[in-house]
Amino acid sequence: NPLKTFEYRIMQYGEDQLLLIVRDVSRVSHLEEMRKDFVANVSHELKTPLTVINGYLEVLDSSYGEAPPIVSKAISEMGTQTHRMQSLIEDLLILSRIESSAERIFENTVDMQAMFKQISIEAEALNKEKQHHISFNVDSELVVYGVETELRSACSNLIFNAIHYTPQHGKIEVVWKSRANGAYFAVIDNGDGIEDKHLRRLTERFYRVDKARSRKTGGSGLGLSIVKHVLHHHNSTLEIESKVGKGSEFSFLLPQELIKQHDGA
Ligand code: ADP
Repeated sequence: NPLKTFEYRIMQYGEDQLLLIVRDVSRVSHLEEMRKDFVANVSHELKTPLTVINGYLEVLDSSYGEAPPIVSKAISEMGTQTHRMQSLIEDLLILSRIESSAERIFENTVDMQAMFKQISIEAEALNKEKQHHISFNVDSELVVYGVETELRSACSNLIFNAIHYTPQHGKIEVVWKSRANGAYFAVIDNGDGIEDKHLRRLTERFYRVDKARSRKTGGSGLGLSIVKHVLHHHNSTLEIESKVGKGSEFSFLLPQELIKQHDGA
């Protein structure tokens, strides 16, 4: 049956025999496909009604200049919550897109330096309240193969998280440099840090350490899940090191084969 999906494992059996285990995972992978399609479709369908609600909220906001305080408050709160829902849906769509991404990573090179320049402008805007000291230590020569939108999503999520989860006047360092075994990216902050028991689950969808606080920062709880999928697509994994009261370091190493060698080198 051409529609069946199998998984196989080869194990050593005794001294000189191999054991081949073949498992029919068609049903599991079919359900997984259905789940992905469902999430993508629902997210997409929710976009239109939210745009309409938002449009009417803007009309209300501009036509009730002298509204009683409770009405102004209600309109403003509804606006905030609608925007939160919109960014949650945006993140769900990004996640579905990455999960089923068939885009080849070796087809395009990514100008990481230009990307970091762009991200640093956005980071500065986000940093107005927190006033962290943010430094970018970027190797301008280091060019990699990959999917630009995905790498941008991964790097900006990690940088924006550091801004969100570090108390005011913190120190954040972004590193992008070449290493003997690949291209290394890291975001190091001196924020609150994360307890060990949470680290393993951090990249799960909607997992948050402090639900109340995260909700206030407005994140969707999908950021690190997006990062995990992007890195999987680029043959890499997310490393997290964190110490409560000291800070966190989120990093990844893109493998050597993704580094574009200099012309003539
Ligand atoms: P969120 O939208 O909540 O930021 P993420 O998936 O990006 O979702 O992050 C998951 C959780 O990991 C966050 O809610 C936060 O508790 C924790 N976290 C992420 N980055 C950091 C960081 N740099 N320092 C401390 N905690 C962090």
